[in-house]
Amino acid sequence: MPEDHEGRLGLSPAPAGENPAGAHSRGPVLVTGANGYVASWLVRRLLERGFPVHATVRDPGDPARTEHLRAIARDSPGTLSLFPADLLDPAGFGPAMAGCGLVFHTASPLIVRGVEDALRDLVEPATAGTRHVLEAASRTPSVRRVVLTSSIVAVYGDAQDIEHVEGERFDETHWNTTSSARHQPYSYSKTVAERLAWEMARRQSGWELVALNPGLVLGPALSLHTKAEGVLMMRDLGSGYYRFGAPDLEFAVVDVRDVAEAHLRAALNPDASGRHILVSESLGLIRIAQILRERFGSAYPFPTRTVSNSAALMLAPTRGIPQAVARRNLGYPLRFDNGRSRNVLGMVYRPAGESVADHFRQLLDDGLVKAPA
Ligand code: NAP
Repeated sequence: MPEDHEGRLGLSPAPAGENPAGAHSRGPVLVTGANGYVASWLVRRLLERGFPVHATVRDPGDPARTEHLRAIARDSPGTLSLFPADLLDPAGFGPAMAGCGLVFHTASPLIVRGVEDALRDLVEPATAGTRHVLEAASRTPSVRRVVLTSSIVAVYGDAQDIEHVEGERFDETHWNTTSSARHQPYSYSKTVAERLAWEMARRQSGWELVALNPGLVLGPALSLHTKAEGVLMMRDLGSGYYRFGAPDLEFAVVDVRDVAEAHLRAALNPDASGRHILVSESLGLIRIAQILRERFGSAYPFPTRTVSNSAALMLAPTRGIPQAVARRNLGYPLRFDNGRSRNVLGMVYRPAGESVADHFRQLLDDGLVKAPA
């Protein structure tokens, strides 16, 4: 990563004497939602590289949510400062951002199943949070670049949307136009938040925006407190919920460690601009089960066959998935072009099977999935 670009972003080495540990010291960087599944890996990578990390969390005093970050900082050349900030608080991010050249905005509510009030619980915090973070960036002269953690669900709404895509592969030119507060509200919240971010980026010249659009993130978590969708999927597979058959669904998988790496590259690579799909490969649920069976043995109740779409449609509401969502996703392939992230960011993705296996292994080790008796 070119040092001159780091200098332009206000990340130059600190003057001699400011870095008693002798590590390569740099200007501070901000990470919002720093205790999240993805952000924890990003914070770890930044601390390993010697960055002073300003980390916002809702409650810095909650050890269950922050101790893993403090432990990483203790063993790293970088330094960690925790700041309280809520997405809904217009003034929350200013103090943490002071002096930062780079802002990683990862915080956003991630609720896919059983949403009670989509506007209150998803759309409002996602958009208000984006507005508050970017307004703070515009008020903070040191900020040069904002890396936004968007999602592939800002690229497409339902797998069925592929019917309108030439080449049957989604890329960064595509936008989700089919989600709403009623249908796929999480996807809608990510779409409107990313659109808002691009609109705000265009209206100012102090900082540049780079967006990352990860697929379903799998791989080991650094904290036990992750509610990520991948955990639910692994638990369903390991607990025998699908023992009589799995729905014909595909997932575009990316490893959490690769997502963290992509954030670093998006921040430090001078050529990074625009959107970047982060996907290793798409796997069907049955293929995921097959990978797990090969690694962990057939004593686990992993599914061996696919259930019919009509049966899956009937069962969907029992897992908190509305039938309209099931209907527009069952049986459709889900393909993405990850060429931009490979060519511009130089990403080399872990095979998705490795992420699947590492994720399941951790859930077993943590007791979140039970080994067969
Ligand atoms: P996560 O572990 O649930 O992290 C979400 C973070 O957002 C948490 O730190 C959470 O804080 C914070 N947050 C939520 N509501 C907030 C609020 N009102 N004020 C302040 N902070 C708030 O999920 P993740 O998987 O790491 O997600 C990180 C980012 O990646 C999100 O933008 C998500 O949309 C995106 N993404 C995730 C995936 C995936 O498969 N996991 C895929 C694509 C994109 P608390 O801990 O206090 O709740």
